Amino acid sequence: MVLSRPEDYISRLKMRAKNFNIYAMGEKIDDPLEHPTTKPVIEVLKKTYELALMPEYKGILTAEGLNNDKINRFVHVERSPEDLIKRVKSQRIVSFHVGNCNYRCTGHDGINALYAVTYEIDSELNTNYHKRFIEFLKNVQKEDLVVVTAMTDVKGNRSKRPAELKDSNSLSYIHIVEERNDGIVISGAKMHVSGAALADEILVVSTRSLTDDEKEFAVAVAIKPDFKGVYFISGWNSYDSLMKTSKDLGTDIDYPTPFGHRNTFMIIFDNVFVPKDRVFLSGETKYAEKLVEYFVAHHRAAGAGCKAAFADVILGASALAAEVNGVFNARYIQDRLLEIKRHGEATYATGIAAMALGWRHPSGVYMPNYKLANIAKLEAITHLKEAIVIASEMGGGIVVNAPSATDLKGPVGEKVSMAIKANEKYSPEERLKVMRLLSLWTAGPHLVGLVQGGGPPATQLLALKRTLKEELPDIIENARKLIDMKR
Ligand SMILES: Cc1cc2nc3c(=O)[nH]c(=O)nc-3n(C[C@H](O)[C@H](O)[C@H](O)COP(=O)(O)OP(=O)(O)OC[C@H]3O[C@@H](n4cnc5c(N)ncnc54)[C@H](O)[C@@H]3O)c2cc1C
Repeated sequence: MVLSRPEDYISRLKMRAKNFNIYAMGEKIDDPLEHPTTKPVIEVLKKTYELALMPEYKGILTAEGLNNDKINRFVHVERSPEDLIKRVKSQRIVSFHVGNCNYRCTGHDGINALYAVTYEIDSELNTNYHKRFIEFLKNVQKEDLVVVTAMTDVKGNRSKRPAELKDSNSLSYIHIVEERNDGIVISGAKMHVSGAALADEILVVSTRSLTDDEKEFAVAVAIKPDFKGVYFISGWNSYDSLMKTSKDLGTDIDYPTPFGHRNTFMIIFDNVFVPKDRVFLSGETKYAEKLVEYFVAHHRAAGAGCKAAFADVILGASALAAEVNGVFNARYIQDRLLEIKRHGEATYATGIAAMALGWRHPSGVYMPNYKLANIAKLEAITHLKEAIVIASEMGGGIVVNAPSATDLKGPVGEKVSMAIKANEKYSPEERLKVMRLLSLWTAGPHLVGLVQGGGPPATQLLALKRTLKEELPDIIENARKLIDMKR
């Protein structure tokens, strides 16, 4: 059995911390274990270990690894449609418990994509990437490491190809600067990478399809966050500000969850040397698109599990809001809560469907059905955005207009407290806490995460358009037959 405990992860983090280059709000983070920007990510990651050790999640949050050991599903290569279905279930469980991104799903999806792609490259080009990747993965599984995938390049001008931007913006796409006998040197910048600085391993992979003359942009490597030349800059939004201010003011009511609101990092790679045993694709442009396709198939299908969990969290917060407002039993409220439930389960169903119709890649890894994985992503947006609208309705204006908890103790604190009180069973502090949780989901960063995470809707629609082109002639022919139209 190779399941880690939260304290194993923390001790690895402590060992690396002195070499980190992590920045937030213009300053270097000296102690990521305590800094308000990084601490919530660490709390989430600790929880992923705790949950996997719980007997009730055995076989769902855990799986059988390459060495036939019991491992965490986050580092598992999926081996059957049943496995894939468990993957969606696992996403729902973990994201439900943390009420946030679980920060380990991109690692899982990168592992599964690289397992397949390295196999394809080796089969066609007689390279040895797959063997190398398996050695890397065996260690990841043995140590139960936190892996994330950094795919999204900063990209620069979106209408230009990587090679066109090379001279004007050398960071726009990750690229190989130098090939050496013992490895490669890479430069460039990635952005939006969830939880990246707090991971044990980062899979750095190309973000798009590439042409034959774009060899230097075809990359897949594993780095550690403390490699020389790697810099992390934390994202910063109004919720980071709220989190920091509430800590400064000495209250946890204005920002009530220890698991945070979702943290992403820009990563700058400044001539980073990657040893050969960590290089899994280097210049093979033909396979860059496949890598992205396999990654997003997993990510979009499994994402339905975490979006269903988010719907559960939104439902819980909405129900609590109705309760503290004193209207929980009202018929209309109950109907609206039921609607949130419907949207959550509909999202879940699409992910399960994409997994149930998964297929076996020649390497042995199972891939979700690509068409349905794209549908799962689009449906997640449709359903979760409805849930968010209902949640906005459930709480009332106080969701965005609440005073700070410090006002309850200010010069007119008694009056504010009385004014905030609704259902007599709950204190003003409790009502504020509930509304802050609801505010995170209705007015926080999650909506953009829902739309852009796993790629913007345009990419899913493009994939569907291709499928439609293939399927439409038969569909039209069938319509003809139904009305006996001869031509
Ligand atoms: C909360 C969150 C977490 C994330 N986590 C991760 C992560 O862990 N790892 C990771 O690798 N990525 C992650 N992402 C990144 C995510 O995949 C990207 O945000 C997404 O792919 C879009 O890229 P972009 O943000 O650069 O948007 P842009 O490329 O700026 O796109 C903006 C809009 O313009 C359109 N557009 C872009 N280019 C073109 C073009 N050439 N022609 C026409 N239209 C165009 C797009 O359709 C899109 O709607 C995360 C994103 C978010 C919001």
